Amino acid sequence: MADSVQKTPRLAIVVPCYNEEEVLPVTKDTLTNLVSDLIKKKKVSDDSFVAFVDDGSRDITWKLIEQFSKENALIKGVKLSRNFGHQGALLAGLNTFTNSADCVVSIDADLQDDVKVIEDMVDKYNEGFDIVYGVRNQRKTDTFFKRTTALGFYKLMKWLGVEIIYNHADYRLTSSRVLQQLNNYNEVNLFLRGIFPLIGYPSTQVYYDRLERFAGESKYPLKKMLAFAFDGISSFSVKPLRMVSIIGFLVFFVSVIMAIYSLISYFYLGTVPGWTSITLPIYFISGIQILCIGIIGEYLGKVYKEVKARPRFVIETVLQ
Ligand code: UDP
Ligand code: MG
Repeated sequence: MADSVQKTPRLAIVVPCYNEEEVLPVTKDTLTNLVSDLIKKKKVSDDSFVAFVDDGSRDITWKLIEQFSKENALIKGVKLSRNFGHQGALLAGLNTFTNSADCVVSIDADLQDDVKVIEDMVDKYNEGFDIVYGVRNQRKTDTFFKRTTALGFYKLMKWLGVEIIYNHADYRLTSSRVLQQLNNYNEVNLFLRGIFPLIGYPSTQVYYDRLERFAGESKYPLKKMLAFAFDGISSFSVKPLRMVSIIGFLVFFVSVIMAIYSLISYFYLGTVPGWTSITLPIYFISGIQILCIGIIGEYLGKVYKEVKARPRFVIETVLQ
C-alpha cells in the first residue's frame, strides 16, 4: 500500500474456473456474501468485486458466469479463448484487474482454501503489506501420498535454490503495485508462486485449514501435478545444469588418473597387447565428453537467464 492517506481499498477476488458448473453457484454466493460483508464493515470500498475467469470450460461454466454478472453488480467475468491451464487463467485474471483494483485475492473455485481468512488478508493489506500469502496449517484432508510428495517437493525446491513459501499454493492477496511488477515477468512457463517472492515488497502470511473439494473433481490429476512440479524446478533453477558441469569435471579428473595408470601399466607392469589402446581412449574421450556437455550447460544456464529477461531490480521507494 503506497498511499500514506488511508482509504478503503478496492478489492478484487479472482477465481479461475475450469468445468466448475457444480461448484460455481455455491462459490458465487459465498464470495459475494463475503465481499458484501467486508463492504458493510468498511474494510473494502463498495465497488469491490468478484471476477470469475473461465478457462475454456466445456460445460456451462461461462453461461453461469454471464448469468451471475447480470444478476449481481459485484460479479465480473473473463472468458479465455481456450483452456490455458490454472496458471494461465490466474495470470489472465490478475493482469486484467491490475489497474482496476487496489488489491487482488486469488482463490480456487472449489473453495478448498478457507475464505474466512480473506478478511485477515485485507487487514494485513491495510496494515501496509503488499503480499499476503495464504498458508495451510496442516494437510489433514490430503492423502498420505499427496502430503509426502508435496513436502518432498518443497524440500527439493529449497535445495535447488528456489524460494517458495512452504504450504502456500495460489491463495494470496497482492497489491496493485506488485501486479504491475508481475507484468515485467514475461516468462511463458508459468509458476506464479515462485515469482512473487522474487518480486519482493513487504509480505506476510495468514494461516488456514485446507478443506476437501465440496463438489466436482480435482482438475489436477497426478500427471498434471508432476508436470507442474517439474515446471517449477526447470523454470527457476539452473542447478541441474551446474550438476552436469560438476560431474563432468569429476569424470574428467578420474579419466586423467586412469589414463596415467594405463600408461604406467603399459610401460612398467606389462599388459595384454591392445589393453592400453582400448582403455585409454575410453576414459579420456568419455571424460572430455561430459566435461564439454558441462561447459555447454554453463552457457545454456546463462542463455536461460537472459531469455527470461526478468527484472534485475524492483524499486520500492525513492526519496527526493
Ligand atoms: N483450473 C483452471 N484450469 C485448468 C485446471 C484447473 O482454471 O486447466 C482451476 C480450477 O477450476 C480450480 C483451480 O484451478 O478453480 C484448482 O483446481 P483443482 O481444485 O481441481 O486442483 P486441486 O485443488 O485438486 O489441486
Ligand atoms: Mg481444489
